[in-house]
Formats: sequence, structure tokens, C-alpha cells
Amino acid sequence: MIIEFERVRVVCRRTIPIVNQCRECRTETDFVTVAEAARMIETNLPTIFRLIEAGVLHSLSGGGGEIYICLASLLTFEENRLC
Ligand SMILES: [Zn+2]
Repeated sequence: MIIEFERVRVVCRRTIPIVNQCRECRTETDFVTVAEAARMIETNLPTIFRLIEAGVLHSLSGGGGEIYICLASLLTFEENRLC
């Protein structure tokens, strides 16, 4: 799990996450684009949108209509999937 977390951190450093307040986490967290989130957990975009709708992944809408994913929720999902 630590190795997995480190891998995600390395990916994040490259993708430059956006720091913002997450309504679900009630704290400041990193956000990545939907495409980056899909790449990080090795899935496709429809799966990401399904996970957002299911409330598994927290999302944030940008000013231009783009959607960002809360990295904390993405990590939680990834950890649960590995267990
Ligand atoms: Zn969150």
C-alpha cells in the first residue's frame, strides 16, 4: 500500500495537481483532471464518471466546465480495490 501511494505521489508531482477545498473531505486536498485520474487508477473515463455518480470519487467543476477529481477519494478507492 505504501508502494502504491508513492507511485501515485510520483505521478502527481508530474501532473501538477490543483489544490482546492473538497466539500466531501471538508479539507484542502489535491485535485487532478478526469483523464489523469483514469490514468492513475488504470481505468477509462466512463468508469471515472460512474464512480463520481456513485459518490465514490469526489469531484469539483472548474470555471470552464472541466471536472477535477479529489485525489484523497481516488487514493481511498485504489486502496480499497487492492485489499
Ligand atoms: Zn474529497
